[in-house]
Amino acid sequence: MNAIECSGLAKRYGRTWALKECSLAVPGGHIVALVGPNGAGKTTLLQLATGLSRPTTGSITVLDHVPAGSLDALERVAFVAQDAPLYQHLPVAAMVALAEGLNPRFERIRAARRLLELDIDLHRKVGKLSGGQQAQLALTLALARRPELLILDEPLARLDPLARHDFMAALMVATVEDGLSVMFSSHVVAELERVADYVVVLASGRLQVAGDIADLLGGHSMLTGPAGEAEELAARLAAVQVRPAGRQARVLVRRPAATPPPAGWESDEVSLEELILAYLRAPSASALPGPVGPSEGRAADGPRDLAAAPDGARRGARRRRGARDRAGRERDRDARRVLPDRGLRLPDVVPRAVR
Ligand code: ATP
Repeated sequence: MNAIECSGLAKRYGRTWALKECSLAVPGGHIVALVGPNGAGKTTLLQLATGLSRPTTGSITVLDHVPAGSLDALERVAFVAQDAPLYQHLPVAAMVALAEGLNPRFERIRAARRLLELDIDLHRKVGKLSGGQQAQLALTLALARRPELLILDEPLARLDPLARHDFMAALMVATVEDGLSVMFSSHVVAELERVADYVVVLASGRLQVAGDIADLLGGHSMLTGPAGEAEELAARLAAVQVRPAGRQARVLVRRPAATPPPAGWESDEVSLEELILAYLRAPSASALPGPVGPSEGRAADGPRDLAAAPDGARRGARRRRGARDRAGRERDRDARRVLPDRGLRLPDVVPRAVR
């Protein structure tokens, strides 16, 4: 199953092409990092995937050929926009009730339980929460809709390193437990491989890299050797990038690190950060899969296989599952108490303007 699939997708605003000739098939069941510099077209692609804007040319579908923005897609896709759209003057509990009133599949107990786990006071006004807590609240509301595809635009931007870590851990656990597919955009390239297992790189509106992170890293290596030989070697091996390093040069090439290097050269594995930055600095280079077609990706119609998840996600999921088993019923009781069935109803909490 493909979580997101586009063919010849392009979007023009006036005379600016925000996205050009984008053909892509992202398999389901992955946490996909969408990275690129400012103005690369990340938000544009996410808005097209959620149906918030329409393509100028080409097509985009989600969850196996469901047209983006269709009623079916709206039911099954959750989107958290860049500025987590929360009503600042509402108490958290009222924000939960509002989300519940707007989403038929919403699970109130699930939301309340997660907020209790996060120690977020349900009676506090949203505007009084920290940036990290607001991001967690937005994620909680999105997850309580039980989406099959979760799309997040810059979820890390407002968070400090600790909150960033907690947020991504929560996202990974939810992904492992629920088997949903996630795509999030980010400028933060460092440490992406701890969180994501698939990456899409955009630069100047063009798709430059797309693929499984392990495959991409396994298929590239960094050769270090005499600077005087670098240009000839780079031309011979169709290098992605050549960088001087004193009397030596570092040449990024598309071949496994285990491949014996040329005489006088050393071959090392490459980090994801090095790989992404190299492609961003070389606009003419690209690492893309073949033509868009049926995907080999994992099916996302059940909980994701823990064995295939990143280490942190695995440990976190097991720990949380254990904790949930022990304290689950107690928390559900608490959750019901703080969000009583007859407590906050939409008409009580929603400002007239949005009712
Ligand atoms: P950032 O990382 O800064 O958020 P981005 O990668 O999300 O950037 P987009 O917001 O998709 O990039 O913008 C891509 C290009 O399209 C930019 O040149 C931007 O100025 C332009 N653009 C985006 N939205 C609009 C709009 N509504 N009207 C006109 N131009 C737009």
